[in-house]
Amino acid sequence: MTAREPTNFDMLENFIHEVAHSLEVQHGENIYSNNLRKEFLGKRHRLYHLLKAQGYHTNPAFYANIEYNQKFDEFLANEVGYPTLLSLTMGLFVSPYGATSLQEYFANGFEKYYLDSPETLKQISPILYRKIEEIINDEA
Ligand SMILES: [Zn+2]
Repeated sequence: MTAREPTNFDMLENFIHEVAHSLEVQHGENIYSNNLRKEFLGKRHRLYHLLKAQGYHTNPAFYANIEYNQKFDEFLANEVGYPTLLSLTMGLFVSPYGATSLQEYFANGFEKYYLDSPETLKQISPILYRKIEEIINDEA
């Protein structure tokens, strides 16, 4: 098998990721409430300082925008690069892609909760963890 071939785990991961996005329709108001925005923006603020300390510069306004922005995504993916981003954001984001937007922050947290380690999510993103538990209880 080549490295680029998707594994069963990749497919499961994609599926869980899409489930997370589909929950936004029903639970958007709860998911993107002020406290989760604050948690996310606090992490973005720390990311700004971490990247600045490493010499990476982009428009500071990107860090305060919770929505997906292609230029910011390209900056993170191409200028910084995911290997660097991964090492800089350890303990800040459960996955570096979670830094791209509030929606991806939620979806990546949801993946972590179901596929990897809910305890890690609880430690790194306590508000997001609580939201996911609320939504699960609400759905049950
Ligand atoms: Zn997504």
